[in-house]
Amino acid sequence: MKRLGRPRTHDILAIETGLGASWYDPRMPGAADGLVGGRNMLAVAGLVLLGLALTLPAGSMGGASPSGPAPKAARPSPSQDTLAVERLARLGEPIYCAGHRGNAMALTFDDGPGVYTHLALRLLRRFHVRATFFLVGRLLKGWPQLPARERAFGALGDHTWTHAYLPALSPSAVAAQVTDTRRAIDAAAHVVVRLFRPPYGLRNTAIDHEIKRLGMLEVLWNVDSLDWAGADAAQIARNVLRHISPGAIVLMHENRGQTIKALTFTLLPALRRLHIRLVSVPELLASDPPSAAQIRRGLAGCTHNTPSVVGHGA
Ligand SMILES: [Zn+2]
Repeated sequence: MKRLGRPRTHDILAIETGLGASWYDPRMPGAADGLVGGRNMLAVAGLVLLGLALTLPAGSMGGASPSGPAPKAARPSPSQDTLAVERLARLGEPIYCAGHRGNAMALTFDDGPGVYTHLALRLLRRFHVRATFFLVGRLLKGWPQLPARERAFGALGDHTWTHAYLPALSPSAVAAQVTDTRRAIDAAAHVVVRLFRPPYGLRNTAIDHEIKRLGMLEVLWNVDSLDWAGADAAQIARNVLRHISPGAIVLMHENRGQTIKALTFTLLPALRRLHIRLVSVPELLASDPPSAAQIRRGLAGCTHNTPSVVGHGA
């Protein structure tokens, strides 16, 4: 197995220069801090990034001005978050990403809670960021205290009771998988669960209909870390950083040690340097909702998508 220590500076540079340029403003004070060790590399990076930035339309730089950092957008109140989710849930269509106008994106962690959850939460606290957790109902019995702790760091979602292969189930069995989990999360964390993610990202019209009937919103993703496929920490970081863009929803898993490693040493430091706001899915949908046209196009309505992301190990 390849050993990963602290990422070398040129590794981070290589990753970050491959980003969607709209996230990066080289004029920001300290924007390139710590990226490179050599003056030549810094100069090259600056030219590359400046070139990318100059090709962008005004307003695509996350609101940054040359004289200061990007203004902080006001975080929507919980009621705004709830209203945004409920409005989208009524459409009965899955959401793959948010709009493309802000400077925020959402990390999502599936398949918990579990042994790595406390490490993930520690990281979220350390970096002052938020996330969304799609929980497997039957696991809550072993970790009854974790959903409430996770709730303090963002939003909770339903990921079925047994991580079921939903297309093989009847509508009533799908409903039971979802409502049992929803009830268990509510009991553990005292929260109304409105988000749902189908295991493996597998959905069809009947499943969509059932989720809409239950008043919930199906949340898929447009960026896949591929941590479920055995990617190591460096690959996970690369898979995410290559595809991020405003409004992205990122698929990760909270039961993977390599994911925690990637977040610790590469991902969260890099995203912080890029001045990206990491928010929960409801916060993202409230502050930068997808347009009706985007929703109609499904995954194709998002940008910088990981190819062929749906139908595997979510
Ligand atoms: Zn899953």
